[in-house]
Amino acid sequence: MPTLFTKIINREIPAKIVYETDKTLAFQDINPQAPHHYLIVPKIEIPTINDLTPETAHYIGELFLSAKEIAKQIGVDEKGYRVVMNCNAEAGQTVFHLHLHFLAGRAMHWPPG
Ligand code: AMP
Repeated sequence: MPTLFTKIINREIPAKIVYETDKTLAFQDINPQAPHHYLIVPKIEIPTINDLTPETAHYIGELFLSAKEIAKQIGVDEKGYRVVMNCNAEAGQTVFHLHLHFLAGRAMHWPPG
């Protein structure tokens, strides 16, 4: 079964797409936690950080390069933004297709809840 995010990548489920490369797709989170809340996903199915291998690790760099470009595009690169990746249940992961949360547009707090 394709993951929810693969269905978004394949345009089988609608999403507000904000950025795309040959390796990644970024779209608005359906339940935004900040004025800008995007999910940046690799165009291959990797369930969690625990499933990364030396062969797929380069996708992490691609996700961060996409985050950098989105930050520039929406003008928060200097002001600040947060990227977060949850791994498994206790961290709050609910969709098992690796994704980087991109959050911006409000002051962030530390530690996160
Ligand atoms: P996580 O809890 O880290 O696994 O994040 C999953 C995220 O996916 C949550 O922030 C959800 O709001 C978001 N989400 C779930 N379904 C959709 C959808 N159809 N389109 C966009 N975002 C979604």
